Amino acid sequence: MNKYDVVIIGGAIVGSSLAYFLRKEGFSGSIALVERDPQFAHAATTLSLASIRQQFSIPENIRLSQFTLGLFRRLKDEFGADADIGFREGGYLILTGEAGVPILQANHAAQLAAGADIVLEDAAALGRRFSWLSTEGVAAGAYGVSGEGWFDAHAMLGLFRRALRTMQVDLVSATVTAVTREGDRTTAVTLDNGTVLEAGIVVNAAGPNAGKVAAMAGLDLPVEPRKRTVFVFEARDRFEDMPLLVDPSGVYVRPEGSVYLTGGAESEEGEEAADPADFEPRWDLFEEVIWPTLATRIPAFEAIKMTRAWAGHYDYNRLDQNAVIGPHPQVRNFIFANGFSGHGLQQAPAVGKALAEYIVHGGYRTIDCSAFGYERVAEGRPFRELNVI
Ligand SMILES: Cc1cc2nc3c(=O)[nH]c(=O)nc-3n(C[C@H](O)[C@H](O)[C@H](O)COP(=O)(O)OP(=O)(O)OC[C@H]3O[C@@H](n4cnc5c(N)ncnc54)[C@H](O)[C@@H]3O)c2cc1C
Repeated sequence: MNKYDVVIIGGAIVGSSLAYFLRKEGFSGSIALVERDPQFAHAATTLSLASIRQQFSIPENIRLSQFTLGLFRRLKDEFGADADIGFREGGYLILTGEAGVPILQANHAAQLAAGADIVLEDAAALGRRFSWLSTEGVAAGAYGVSGEGWFDAHAMLGLFRRALRTMQVDLVSATVTAVTREGDRTTAVTLDNGTVLEAGIVVNAAGPNAGKVAAMAGLDLPVEPRKRTVFVFEARDRFEDMPLLVDPSGVYVRPEGSVYLTGGAESEEGEEAADPADFEPRWDLFEEVIWPTLATRIPAFEAIKMTRAWAGHYDYNRLDQNAVIGPHPQVRNFIFANGFSGHGLQQAPAVGKALAEYIVHGGYRTIDCSAFGYERVAEGRPFRELNVI
């Protein structure tokens, strides 16, 4: 079949979630989910830190994560009794120095108003709560008592992909090389094997490659790959109560089974788009930035052994490090689900649900994503998320 009601470009978590929720929403039209890397070796989804938080600065982002949290809580009802993504509700601990306190307070107020279970504590209280923590240079920290933590991204993607097998969604293994546009409508996509798929609606779920996919339709989208390295290390001490800690410097660390994961050492100043083929870890960052930071923040991490590292690409939105969700205002059958800038895994189920509602009912019902619309990109009006990790 070469004619589809919906063609989704990119079959990782965002594309798969949309296809899934389209069917759950009762969409009976034909769907093609086109993926160039069916093992997802280079997808942001599988190279991510696989964590979920409520600690955002804007209520819209909190709501997206809360929807996904709800899905995690009813995972077996949704995907079957054997569904398990290993969700560990360890919380986030976001630390700040004196200068950042007003922002942390404002964020905290927004989180409380959205019903998130976050406490804001001063350095002394944090020191009492976490015996292993050095509060040197820390004025306050926000800690997610519940509703935040980490999980297995492969398992989460697997649940959606497995469900799709029985949902009459055509899983197409190919690269989209062109998007045909006639005036204010996209009409087809061309695959690298020469096949042309006619399309009623085209959805851009191409992750870090989304800017290039939008350009195929002649549309400007400020989303590009930015390389981020995650290091794995071993330490002698285990801290069972350790949340995902974000140091005031931006360096983060969290437990993962018997080891720890850390990263966040890249500086955005002067940073440019990554080469889409470059997945070489930035090894230098460990010795130069991460280790000294960790040893200061958690004295027991003075003696640690880095065992491996990987690099993935953020789907980085240059305008405001926030998602672009919904149709292009003129080319209305081209839909964006892009630019999540490091928090898209946890938002993907919510975004899939919201866009499925938009496509089936002509508007958002459960989660209003209008604030993420492309209009702000066209106007150059940032909708900034302050808590980008
Ligand atoms: C190191 C790192 C840590 C992260 N940590 C977190 C975290 O803790 N929590 C969180 O919520 N998010 C995190 N993220 C961000 C998150 O991974 C992404 O926002 C999310 O996975 C985006 O999902 P996606 O499906 O849009 O993109 P991807 O997973 O990148 O999938 C896009 C897919 O589109 C395919 N594609 C692209 N172009 C084409 C084409 N032309 N034709 C066919 N297929 C195409 C690609 O092959 C790819 O599989 C992290 C990202 C990185 C890199």
